[in-house]
Amino acid sequence: MTDKTRKVLFELMSEMGHEQVVFSQDASCGYRGIIAIHSTVLGPAVGGTRFWKYASEEEALVDALRLSRGMTYKCAVAGLPWGGGKSIIIDDGTVKDREKLFRAHGRFIDTLGGRYITAEDVGTSPADMEIIALETSHVGGRIGKGGDPSPLTALGVFRSMQASAQYRWGSDELRNKRVAIQGCGNVGFNLARLLHDAGAQLILSDVDQKKVNRAVENLGAKSASTEGIFSVEADIFSPCALGGIINDKTIPLLKAEIVCGAANNQLLEPRHGDALEERGILYAPDYVANSGGVLSGGAELFGWTIERVRAEVSAIYDTLLLVFAIAKAEGIPTYKAADRLAERRLREGALRTSAGSAPEV
Ligand code: NAD
Repeated sequence: MTDKTRKVLFELMSEMGHEQVVFSQDASCGYRGIIAIHSTVLGPAVGGTRFWKYASEEEALVDALRLSRGMTYKCAVAGLPWGGGKSIIIDDGTVKDREKLFRAHGRFIDTLGGRYITAEDVGTSPADMEIIALETSHVGGRIGKGGDPSPLTALGVFRSMQASAQYRWGSDELRNKRVAIQGCGNVGFNLARLLHDAGAQLILSDVDQKKVNRAVENLGAKSASTEGIFSVEADIFSPCALGGIINDKTIPLLKAEIVCGAANNQLLEPRHGDALEERGILYAPDYVANSGGVLSGGAELFGWTIERVRAEVSAIYDTLLLVFAIAKAEGIPTYKAADRLAERRLREGALRTSAGSAPEV
């Protein structure tokens, strides 16, 4: 057990600022779930359902707390009238009936009366959301409604690269810029296509060589090994695979001047954001750059047209420039500036909400 999980729950909740944590079980189907609501200050808490094996219940709890807080910040910076939540269904390897499991989850979500709205996440699919929808209306990401958010996430990362280029080089032109992308999956490939169309030169890596080959054949990209991608000659390094890849080992290897990608939790620890700053590398905070995914939820939950969604995602450009401006004005690294912007919006939203009117979308 880590020091963090040794703490009692209320201490952990107040340290991380959570409003509510719900533990539920239904022994008839082996369901054990945690729903963490970090904040409903700006609106209902949104965040996916993760179905995952954990080494311990403490690990599952800390994941739920950490991920739900991340959603609060992501929504606040994106200017969405939503708070942050997340739920975890613990996969102990014994579950036989997926329908019963997700129906149980839906029933527990429903007891919260709309304070928490779920969607898919790691280990869950649109088909699971359909099952949840049999028990509650507080669910998004359904078949034929939400759609795959990856192309919009990729568009948001592309716009973030343009904003980063503007800030760093005085022009948002990406033609002939060398972009190294780690991970050529749903977001990485869509991003590579946008960059190719913009005239950028691509260097890609993936543990699945087939995915790299597809980009080499279709987009004229170069291929790098999974270890070599950090140190290739590039202007921009784009993490689109895993979290924690900006760390003590990788930072000294980077040749790029900008880090901007889709992966969640790119910094292994906050101090690695400081280390990038010290090396003069501009970091586009992950939850700003990848907020196209959550913004795409506006189509399902607010009935936004695809044009409106694309306009909202495109505006990540301006949000990121604002983050960079805060960092410069306050003399802080960009990851801290993003948190400040989120916290400011939470404070302003809280005042508007307590004055009786909901924040504008
Ligand atoms: P994905 O699973 O489709 O793609 C990830 C790719 O990374 C896979 O092709 C995988 O083989 C590859 N990979 C894994 N380990 C690697 C390694 N060590 N080196 C190189 N490649 C490796 O996932 P995705 O939907 O494209 O999402 C990518 C990242 O962006 C994830 O971290 C995800 O949490 C984050 N994200 C995605 C969205 C979205 O809309 N899909 C939204 C926000 C954030």
